[in-house]
Amino acid sequence: MRVVVLSGGVGGARFVQGVVGAVPADDVTVVGNVGDDVEVLGLHVSPDLDSILYALAGLNDEERGWGRAGETWRVLETVAALNGETWFRLGDLDLGVHLVRTQALRAGEPLSRVIARIADELGVGTRLLPATDDRLRTWIGTGAGEFPFQEWFVSRGHRDEVDALRFEGAETAAPAPGVLEALAQADLLLLAPSNPYVSIAPILAVGEIRAAVAARTVPCVAVSPLIAGRAVKGPADRMLARLAGGTSPAHVARCYEGLIDALVVDEADAGDLDGLGDVRPIVARTLMVDGDARRRLAEAALGAVPA
Ligand code: GDP
Ligand code: CA
Repeated sequence: MRVVVLSGGVGGARFVQGVVGAVPADDVTVVGNVGDDVEVLGLHVSPDLDSILYALAGLNDEERGWGRAGETWRVLETVAALNGETWFRLGDLDLGVHLVRTQALRAGEPLSRVIARIADELGVGTRLLPATDDRLRTWIGTGAGEFPFQEWFVSRGHRDEVDALRFEGAETAAPAPGVLEALAQADLLLLAPSNPYVSIAPILAVGEIRAAVAARTVPCVAVSPLIAGRAVKGPADRMLARLAGGTSPAHVARCYEGLIDALVVDEADAGDLDGLGDVRPIVARTLMVDGDARRRLAEAALGAVPA
């Protein structure tokens, strides 16, 4: 069964691990968010794509929840001693990836090719495509002003309530090579339990991607990032409460209006399924504590396609 997963960073990466545990890795194409990409210390950082790569390569730090296992911070210590830019935590191992990527991008290689090459070198057998090779950046509108995504998320600790989102460059961004083909050939589309507003929406902001999902002839299943109406981590629940008016499964489904056929919701939310309309609820345990839990959650979503 050929599967395409739209994914943000850490939450999405955990789910992708489950999908890869449930279907052969080379049947899976992951389309990742680039709205979070940022230039730090002159380097191009793609946090969401790297979270997926590190998770699939088994290099991720499970305890910290982001970045690489066994990370050290010597470079950043030097940067700090020189009064350089340290707001965005870049570890020594992580930096190696950013150096290679930045050099390749400066030489004119598209991001999708650079990512494919890095994935290959890391032994990742699953295809990972950025949503677009074009520049697409998420901006966060708040009462304190509009901020680039990482400034709001990291520097300001996502404390400002969000009033609006803007995806700079999305109007003219084209899907990266392979994205539309993968969507057209898929037997199932999955939206990972990533933040709907800042992880999945920037992918769907690429017009041709949204149109392809809207025009699908196969099921599309989203997995809710909320458990008992609360985000496992991060601001998704606060954003839903403010921007969608609530944190029930119906509010999550409304983020994907016309785009999904089913929504996987946690057992803790199974009592609150009103207002889903045509979207079929699939009740499962959605806390992805370990490999088994990730695979079982993926299987619950994959079950939307009759065998
Ligand atoms: P980021 O780009 O690194 O911030 O990660 P994502 O957007 O891909 O994922 C963040 C979302 O994942 C948050 O809204 C979390 O609530 C959700 N999440 C993280 N772990 C789990 C889990 O175990 N189960 C579910 N259902 N959601 C999770
Ligand atoms: Ca992200």
